[in-house]
Amino acid sequence: MLANLHHAAKTTTKNIVTKHTIQYSNPNKEVLEVGAISWAAHINARGDKMVKELQSQQQSLAAQLQQQQANMNAALKAQQAQLQSEQSQQLARALEGKGMAPADAAKVAAEAQSTSLEERARAVQHFFPTALPVDDYMNRVEVALAGMGFTGDNTIAMSNLCRDESCMILEDKIESVFGACFSTHGLGAVLTCGSIGIKAGLSHSPVVGGKEQYVFFSFPHIAIDSANEIGKISRPNRPGSSSACGALCACLADFQKDGLEANCRVPGVHDAENPEYSILKQRLARQLRSEGCDPSKLDLVSITQAAERTITNDLEHLISQAVDTSKANYAVFTGVQVHNWAADLTNRSIPSLEFVTVGKSYSVINGQKAPIDIMKVPALAPRQLRLLGSVSEEQHPDNDAPAADTTVQEIPRGYLLRRVGGSAGTRYVQLPGSEPVKA
Ligand SMILES: [Zn+2]
Repeated sequence: MLANLHHAAKTTTKNIVTKHTIQYSNPNKEVLEVGAISWAAHINARGDKMVKELQSQQQSLAAQLQQQQANMNAALKAQQAQLQSEQSQQLARALEGKGMAPADAAKVAAEAQSTSLEERARAVQHFFPTALPVDDYMNRVEVALAGMGFTGDNTIAMSNLCRDESCMILEDKIESVFGACFSTHGLGAVLTCGSIGIKAGLSHSPVVGGKEQYVFFSFPHIAIDSANEIGKISRPNRPGSSSACGALCACLADFQKDGLEANCRVPGVHDAENPEYSILKQRLARQLRSEGCDPSKLDLVSITQAAERTITNDLEHLISQAVDTSKANYAVFTGVQVHNWAADLTNRSIPSLEFVTVGKSYSVINGQKAPIDIMKVPALAPRQLRLLGSVSEEQHPDNDAPAADTTVQEIPRGYLLRRVGGSAGTRYVQLPGSEPVKA
């Protein structure tokens, strides 16, 4: 089509030149021909511009179509996984009903459950290819760090997550390895504590052989629920779904409404009424502007990835201001926390999962920076991961997740409801103005 249009534009131009040459064949022919050629050049330029615009529109439409198809495929996979999960539990009950021993019935059902969980992981990896289940990720981090001399006994963890209570699942995993974290959390995981805030945490570090040791974790977050809805999260005792990350959703809406330029401010300037949000928004706007981003093409996944890049830069700047490498060793882990929770937390048959993407991972020991390849650290066996995962949930003993023979482990529903929702979470979910819902 484009080739035809281009040809049509050229032919029209040629006809115009011929027409004018014949029509104005007189003593001033030379001048008129020059005029015609100039006009022809103008028409030619307009033709080229139209062709370029059409090419651009065609590319944009093709990209949108491709993205829609990919989203539909991922949604389909997630729905299949959910169905398989429900079927696996029905299968266990049916096998028991037909006289199979409960242990054997549970084993058959666990195999079906594993397939379902792996499908869910693949649906998340469609958007975040480096996403690992949270227990698998934390195990690899712990093993890699232990090999370099960082352990829970000799290291303080500095965690930088969003303020959202859903992020506490990852905080618990970090704390099960390193003990209580020094938190620099902010809306959307924006860093507003400054170097004085960072230094406060560092000054609490254990000292080994005269040196302090720190491990920094920094993760903005996003929800992709079990129905593969981007940004949706079901919260205990709250009807319907809500957003995660709400702060990044708000930034996305503002950028698409007003553009990036209007949201860039002089560094250091913020809105006194909304200090964190205004700092988050302007840091993101400046980062995206410097990357030449078109805000109309942003979505929640891409703005979350941009937040990861921006906040990682900010963290590394603060580290350069706050850490004295002659007195301390440290490691840095960044990425995105992904909540892949049940789209309906009142439905016991839908597992809730939690993932972490692998971003920057490195150590700085005696001033020497070295990368850490998390993907090359071997995963533990599913049984070992289950045991380790339960450590972070030990304060919440309703560990009711079925055993799955995969590194993708369910976040036990009882623990999740208690940790995020409160003490009544495992018994029933009481929605305002409604009868208690048997959970
Ligand atoms: Zn958030």
